Amino acid sequence: MSDFQYDYVIVGAGLFGAVFAHEALQKGQKVLVIDKREHSGGNIYCENIEGINVHKYGAHIFHTSNKEVWDYVNQFVDFNHYVNSPVANYRGKLYNLPFNMNTFYQLWGVKTPAEAKAKIEEQRAPYRDINPQNLEEQALFLGGKDLYERLIKGYTEKQWGRPATQIPSFIIKRLPFRFTFDNNYFNDLYQGVPIGGYNSLINALFEGTEVRTGVNYFEEKETFDKLGRKVLYTGKIDEFFECQLGQLEYRSLHFETEVLDCDNYQGNAVVNYTEKDIPFTRIIEHKHFEFGIQEKTVVTHEYPHEFSQDNEPYYPINDEINNALLIRYKEMALSASYRDKFVFGGRLADYKYYDMDDTIEAALSLTKTELDK
Ligand code: UDP
Repeated sequence: MSDFQYDYVIVGAGLFGAVFAHEALQKGQKVLVIDKREHSGGNIYCENIEGINVHKYGAHIFHTSNKEVWDYVNQFVDFNHYVNSPVANYRGKLYNLPFNMNTFYQLWGVKTPAEAKAKIEEQRAPYRDINPQNLEEQALFLGGKDLYERLIKGYTEKQWGRPATQIPSFIIKRLPFRFTFDNNYFNDLYQGVPIGGYNSLINALFEGTEVRTGVNYFEEKETFDKLGRKVLYTGKIDEFFECQLGQLEYRSLHFETEVLDCDNYQGNAVVNYTEKDIPFTRIIEHKHFEFGIQEKTVVTHEYPHEFSQDNEPYYPINDEINNALLIRYKEMALSASYRDKFVFGGRLADYKYYDMDDTIEAALSLTKTELDK
């Protein structure tokens, strides 16, 4: 008979915790999940306003090329055929994203791939020989000046709150670049939004699991640690260690959401505002993720924000300094005092810019090392 009431206490009811909890339950483990928010689902949680699923913590579009992950989520929920095709507004003119033949036509009037390639070669000529060390150099190297200045620089600098020369180049590699008239933002094999919203996915994952919301782990850490044979912590890794080695930096967001008395405000789920002087980065019109036909609409202006203890940590800032600090926290996590009792995972504990599919992949991988022993 174990001394513990639970095999696992999972701190954080987001996607990572939910996948792990589900798998642990399947394997006969007793699990308790706690979350300081009043609801489960972490950042994929949606709030129903006017019959519309509002992505309360930022727009989420599920996309993956990993068949195992796609099959996994499809056990719980069906996905619709939403394809993300954001439009960028720069000084009142609209451009298709990601960078494709439509964008090149809108930028330069070029009509064929050969014309577009020639134009881009001309644009990149001054930067062709650089070995890109940061996002600005990477963007100029890939596409040249017009594209960078109209569609990347302003958006990126607002988003990250620093000059593009101080941002790691890998972030821009997320943006595909193609010579077809294809506005699909992602190159992945599978894509969509859960029918019925993300809460259906989360609720299905948590079926049969005890989830306590509105509970702050750190206020009763000793009690929770005693309840579980092991603790899976999915919050900020630096906070777990009381920021002993220093704080990891994040970028936060601020959302302003309103109900509008019209049925279609912008004709697309996502419109990016790529100029620096407009303080928000994008306007989300939530109904379009699910082809909604409600009478009203709900839109959210998304403002990038400094991170502090009073707001949410959305994006890890994976530059050299933060990544070096992360390594030291990870070493602590693996030290003899912690490794047998605590496991860590998810966007905040791994301090990685995970998409949802990466999160699920990481959670499934942890279940293999933890539960298949
Ligand atoms: N980005 C940009 N212009 C855009 C959209 C994105 O320059 O109109 C850049 C920007 O640097 C951003 C990165 O691409 O940080 C990744 O954007 P993505 O939309 O993938 O980020 P997320 O949806 O995760 O916020």
